[in-house]
Amino acid sequence: MTQIIDGKAIAAQIKEELKEKVARLKEQGTEVTLAVIQVGADPASSVYVRNKKNACAYIGIRSLAYELPEETTEEELLALIRELNGREDVNGILVQLPLPGQICEERVLDAICPGKDVDGFHPQNVGALCIGRPGFVSCTPAGVIQLLKRSGVEIAGKECVVVGRSNIVGKPMALLLLRENGTVTVTHSRTRDLKEVTARADILVAALGKPRFITADYVKDGAVVIDVGIHRNEDGKLCGDVDYESVAPKCSAITPVPGGVGPMTVAMLMYNCVESAALQQNGKVS
Ligand code: NDP
Repeated sequence: MTQIIDGKAIAAQIKEELKEKVARLKEQGTEVTLAVIQVGADPASSVYVRNKKNACAYIGIRSLAYELPEETTEEELLALIRELNGREDVNGILVQLPLPGQICEERVLDAICPGKDVDGFHPQNVGALCIGRPGFVSCTPAGVIQLLKRSGVEIAGKECVVVGRSNIVGKPMALLLLRENGTVTVTHSRTRDLKEVTARADILVAALGKPRFITADYVKDGAVVIDVGIHRNEDGKLCGDVDYESVAPKCSAITPVPGGVGPMTVAMLMYNCVESAALQQNGKVS
């Protein structure tokens, strides 16, 4: 029987745990606060921002919304980030991507103080992950690790194959699996004979951004398959990078889309925020 890994239930469990931590921090005088910045009104970004604000409200995190006009200059955005970096009552700063063309995303992300970089995109946090130091970890791959652990999937010693090497998913995913003592292979668009590599995986993470690309012939019998992809097909239905119907019967466990990795991303953002507040309260991070 294939285990369907229920990301919605696991994300809900994490949010309940966070609710308690937030209440405890409040009793100790810290109101966990996340600043959410959106530039322009891209409809997809507005949905993501709304989800994040709703999650904050549910857990008891105060969210400060900065909705800036499309024509905002880079300097104006950087000035806001500098102000938020300096505010003691702000624990996390999130800039919703993508940004309009006149603003350099890299300069903006680099400007966020690493101790408030709850998205885990700052080079200092990425570097910390690389060398095994504490720091914030990109939310989607951190969510995948939680899904595996909380579903009882052992990572240590396993053949782990990650399809995709982006800075926000594939690379941090590989580093996290390595930190958990997996034997990790990273594949990408230039990988020769992808099927031969993925078919070795005990744990296969698909994050390549191609709808239903991973079919049954890419997967070993009994593998655990994690589908990071999110796509909307012609009839408006969501699907992932994995061809769920053909792959699920072969696996020991699999994440569905929707209801797998997706809900974990916001839950882990909330987790990072609470962590940031706790560290700032203890004076470990400025
Ligand atoms: P990117 O487009 O940034 O990266 C895709 C990666 O996949 C690249 O490294 C690319 O290789 C590799 N790739 C593309 N085609 C192939 C192929 N045919 N064979 C092997 N590798 C290939 O995507 P992201 O990492 O940002 O996102 C991946 C997916 O995850 C998307 O569907 C996205 O929507 C989804 N996503 C979901 C989130 C969630 O919350 N569930 C959050 C973030 C993303 P190369 O480097 O050589 O170009």
